[in-house]
Amino acid sequence: MDSSRSLECVLSMQGGEDDVSYAKNSYGPAAALASSKPMLTSAINSIKLTEGGSSHIIKIADLGCAVGDNTFSTVDTVVEVLRRRLTVIDGKSDQPELEFEVFFSDLPSNDFNTLFRSFEEKVNGSSHKYFAAGVPGSFYGRLFPKGELHVVVTTSALQWLSQIPEKVMEKGSKTWNKGRAWIQGAEGEVVEAYAEQSDKDLVQFLKCRKEEIVEGGVLFMLMGGRPSGLVSQVSDHDSSLRHLFTIFMDQAWQDLVDEGLIEEEKRDGFNIPVYLRSTEEIAAAIDGCGGFKIEKMEVLKIADPMNAKQQELKDPETYGRAMSTSVQAGLKPMVEAYLGPDLTRKLFKQYAVRAAANREFLKENSFYYMIAVSATRV
Ligand code: SAH
Repeated sequence: MDSSRSLECVLSMQGGEDDVSYAKNSYGPAAALASSKPMLTSAINSIKLTEGGSSHIIKIADLGCAVGDNTFSTVDTVVEVLRRRLTVIDGKSDQPELEFEVFFSDLPSNDFNTLFRSFEEKVNGSSHKYFAAGVPGSFYGRLFPKGELHVVVTTSALQWLSQIPEKVMEKGSKTWNKGRAWIQGAEGEVVEAYAEQSDKDLVQFLKCRKEEIVEGGVLFMLMGGRPSGLVSQVSDHDSSLRHLFTIFMDQAWQDLVDEGLIEEEKRDGFNIPVYLRSTEEIAAAIDGCGGFKIEKMEVLKIADPMNAKQQELKDPETYGRAMSTSVQAGLKPMVEAYLGPDLTRKLFKQYAVRAAANREFLKENSFYYMIAVSATRV
């Protein structure tokens, strides 16, 4: 199995609806969505469909939909704004009513069952009805026939790469990411290998969407990123200390090594396939691919929702557990595939202990950046 196929099999948010599920821990992405909603609304409002207006079936896809409220609220916004806008344009009473078809798409490992169950409750009762379908597959490949879609949205998903760069998997090389699970603070060669992979992936994503989106259609992307000119993945010192993938994560892995539960090499072989692109990197990929006109690109500074939790959860142990829960929602399936269930439980227990022990971090407020881009298919 090649590395991108194998990552697709294990990358998913934690399914179900229990405490560590993504459905219960997606308040970070929810904050990002709320902050980008005005831009999404205005992108959809200025859509100029040539074909879509006459077909009366508007097709929308949410790529990397996961499970939970975020995917429904995004799609609701799109359907609501489009319905208003296209009814105003078409307006004539002899026209057939507009119908909407929404494709919820994610990797096959996504918990589509939970998604569909909540769809019944959340959408069917609402007035913004639409037809829904699930589409399994990687957004780094083709998912739809040519010229099929009018609007594509993808939120908090494109920072996930298609694979760990092959160079980073070469033991003992300069690009072997020793002692770290992620790239913040890593050797330049490691970061460079991630940057190359990220570039390749984004171009691949755009090439596929270029085929699938009709002329005049909208592509709206919201992804973890970094502002122009920032070299480091995470902007400031406090945010870097408090980032879910940095210090506590590395300390927890080191604890497993120190207790003799895993070899160092096993620890070093685990890498989180996330890269936060700069605005320049995103713009260069869009320009390089062609077929899209960037309408707007915005850098959003989002306060970490854990900031509020540190006020609520005054004792460090509870806070440590909350941090551990939060990181598990995104990483547990991947870690479990690598370590098995027992060591995974141990790793995240240590994560909670380490987060609780770093009391001085609890005083700091941290934030992260998201990049929102709206583009028209030209
Ligand atoms: N859009 C939701 C979920 C974001 S979580 C929100 O805003 O809250 C990120 C999602 O991207 C996960 O469900 C993950 O499985 C999905 N994802 C990551 N890489 C992907 C890929 N290559 N193809 C499709 N989905 C992917």
